[in-house]
Amino acid sequence: MATAIITGASQGIGACIAKRLAQDGFDVVINHYPSDSDKEKALAVAEECRAFGVKAECYAADVSKFEQCEAMVKQVKADFGTIDALVNNAGITKDKLLARMSEDEYDAVIAVNQKSVYNMTKHVTAVMMKQRYGRIVNVASVAGLYGNPGQMNYSASKAAVIGMTKTVAKEFGSRNITCNAVAPGLIRTPMTDVLSDELKAKMIEAVALRRYGEPEEIASVVSFLVSDNASYVTGQVIEISGGLSM
Ligand code: NAP
Repeated sequence: MATAIITGASQGIGACIAKRLAQDGFDVVINHYPSDSDKEKALAVAEECRAFGVKAECYAADVSKFEQCEAMVKQVKADFGTIDALVNNAGITKDKLLARMSEDEYDAVIAVNQKSVYNMTKHVTAVMMKQRYGRIVNVASVAGLYGNPGQMNYSASKAAVIGMTKTVAKEFGSRNITCNAVAPGLIRTPMTDVLSDELKAKMIEAVALRRYGEPEEIASVVSFLVSDNASYVTGQVIEISGGLSM
């Protein structure tokens, strides 16, 4: 049985990806931030995954911390035997116009959204190299492609993730490891629930399909990218935004 690690999978897009990959037949590793409330939500996600007849376990780790990622990957390898897919999904926002954005708000978003991709990819590719097989998907954002007012920290982190995706694709292609990114637009999750109705309405005006995306619509593309159907796809960024950028 193939194993997939999904970071930040206690809710939102990550939880949905975990369930979809479980449905696809992957054993799933549900990473969550080390807090009681995240653990509780992650356990419920694992329960839903097991309903598809696969193994599903929760692992607490703050993915912005190098040592915590190293320990988690080591434990997963010991518990599951292989690591076939990694979905770097964990992310946060701390939106403010640059004039008001503090250094702490800048650094926190870079640490969770960008450094985590280094932390996880470094340890997981060490396992995948030996297997001569691996599928990595990074969850970027349209903000990383086009920028967004109030999101200098977030846009920087997601643009970096796109550069990291292409670099990993080039460094590890000869070992049969692919690395791609998805760039979601406005998706209905707890992250976007906090936006004002006025801002949401304005953003949806710019979407060709004139609606929010659903987490399932991200999960289906991730499902493709980690499958054999995507065996010759690497270093690509797939925008899933309902036509936001046209
Ligand atoms: P979400 O509902 O807030 O989920 C993000 C998950 O990541 C949460 O479970 C969160 O835990 C976890 N997380 C945060 N920091 C972490 C850390 N240091 N270690 C481990 N886990 C951590 O947001 P979402 O909308 O599903 O976002 C998922 C990904 O999609 C993110 O990378 C986001 O940037 C990207 N994205 C989302 C949208 C959108 O419209 N929703 C658009 C483009 C891209 P806590 O709840 O404890 O923080």
